[in-house]
Amino acid sequence: MNCDSTNVTAQDRQSCDWTSSQQQCYLSRVSSTGRWLEVRGQSQKDTSKASSPRKMGTQGKVIRCKAAVLWKPGTPLAIEEIEVAPPKAKEVRIKIVATGICGTDIKNVDREYFSQFCPIIMGHEGVGIVESVGEDVSTVRTGDKVIILCIPQCGECDTCLNSKNNICTEIRLAETHLTSEGTSRITCNGKLVRQYATLGTLSEYTVLREISVAKVDEGAPLEKVCIIGCGFATGYGAAINSAKVTPGSTCAVFGLGGVGLAVIIGCKAAGAARIIAVDINKDKFAKARTVGATHCIDPRDLEKPIEEFLFDMLNGGADFCFEVTGNKETVATALGSCHKDHGVCIIIGLIGYWSSINISSQLFFSGRTLKASVLGGFQSLLA
Ligand code: NAD
Ligand code: ZN
Repeated sequence: MNCDSTNVTAQDRQSCDWTSSQQQCYLSRVSSTGRWLEVRGQSQKDTSKASSPRKMGTQGKVIRCKAAVLWKPGTPLAIEEIEVAPPKAKEVRIKIVATGICGTDIKNVDREYFSQFCPIIMGHEGVGIVESVGEDVSTVRTGDKVIILCIPQCGECDTCLNSKNNICTEIRLAETHLTSEGTSRITCNGKLVRQYATLGTLSEYTVLREISVAKVDEGAPLEKVCIIGCGFATGYGAAINSAKVTPGSTCAVFGLGGVGLAVIIGCKAAGAARIIAVDINKDKFAKARTVGATHCIDPRDLEKPIEEFLFDMLNGGADFCFEVTGNKETVATALGSCHKDHGVCIIIGLIGYWSSINISSQLFFSGRTLKASVLGGFQSLLA
């Protein structure tokens, strides 16, 4: 990660180039809500940057390197020396080149619920270079540039065989943050460290299943490609695949982090006529306009609830609304901002595990639709 963390923002998320850095990064701004994901550690030379994986001679050996480890929710990530075991069958070991930080990472590091998974290496938006491969790996080889897939596709389960779905049954492993054997390939002073979503990209090296990576073009700018791994695909796909935004339509996007901006880009690409960008942080508006928002609104500046404001402005409400803040209260607001008869509201924000959402049945009476979207409905095998 670059030390100068103020220079690593890509859209509203961070893209941290570990390979070219001389030192590790210790404090990394991540939250567009003004919160920081704090990373603490000792400054040291990056010993991993010099050679390409083919020349490193690390194949088959344990690699000692650095990672940002969460020991307890609500505490800063700690830069630790970790041990990364060689990949087993159908696994690959990746030298991480760049990683974004998703709003989901930020939320989870503070959740008490997450203490059961600690210590854990967060991060699921990564790109890197294949350092070595285990037995029976056929799709990538040492030296390939790869993107990490936060929802892999086994290609065999009922979900993968149905083109309408994208949550492969393998996702159940991601919920434990462990391998299928119930373990991890990473330790810190001999103690097992879980890998967030079985990935853990806030590390110099990680071991993944072969199905969790896909080769990218040799010339691809990896520090930009990493956000396709989750944030960009999620937002863009929510507009294109899940909502199926139509030309000339009106759209309202609640939450202008990296994912919300990608929704705007998707709405614009689909030909939306008006895109209303909504956030309580006005600093987000300039970027939103740059990527295609036609109007920017802080709901706190309005004299009436934003649902009523949009009802009047858009003659009955927006054709498509997107909840991208992760607040459960905003789900009802986004749904209420949809056109009363045919409006479609897509929930993208991570509301929290098993939380209930309070929505008046009146909002559905005339025909609104509420649906969810994960990774923008993309199947990573086909993406
Ligand atoms: P982010 O934190 O960068 O952005 C959230 C934005 O919402 C911020 O700009 C913030 O100011 C704004 N906001 C907060 N409260 C608001 C309110 N009441 N009204 C209007 N705006 C408000 O996060 P991100 O990386 O863009 O991710 C957004 C959400 O999407 C998160 O909840 C994340 O967990 C979720 N997510 C879901 C998927 C999926 O597949 N469904 C994938 C990635 C991220
Ligand atoms: Zn994500």
